[in-house]
Amino acid sequence: MAKTRRPLKPEEIQEFKKILLKKKDEIWEEIRKDLKSRVSEEYHSLINDVNDEEDLAQIDLQEEIILGVMEARKKELEAINQALWKIDHGEYGKCLECEDWICIERLKVRPWAVYCLECKQQLERLGKI
Ligand SMILES: [Zn+2]
Repeated sequence: MAKTRRPLKPEEIQEFKKILLKKKDEIWEEIRKDLKSRVSEEYHSLINDVNDEEDLAQIDLQEEIILGVMEARKKELEAINQALWKIDHGEYGKCLECEDWICIERLKVRPWAVYCLECKQQLERLGKI
């Protein structure tokens, strides 16, 4: 595959931002569903308003329940939040390791990717990620 390492155009960044925000919404939707299945009905209306971890902390739920629900999704959410942060700070699309641009083809598959494919494979071989 031809490499197209280059800075993203503003309209491409906006497109990725949309995808990331949508993905984030989807994850929180799943979290809300999962939470509701684990707690009594009196909490359900409160859970409807939860859109991030701060909201979640406002509800008086058992920590075990929160941890159980968040565990599987935490990494993904962190990666998405990190990508959104980078967009706001003009650093989106740069590889954390080599600081070169990540191919747009890779970002299309994983908009929250923090490493270019080469670095990711290298780090995996070394057992660092
Ligand atoms: Zn790299």
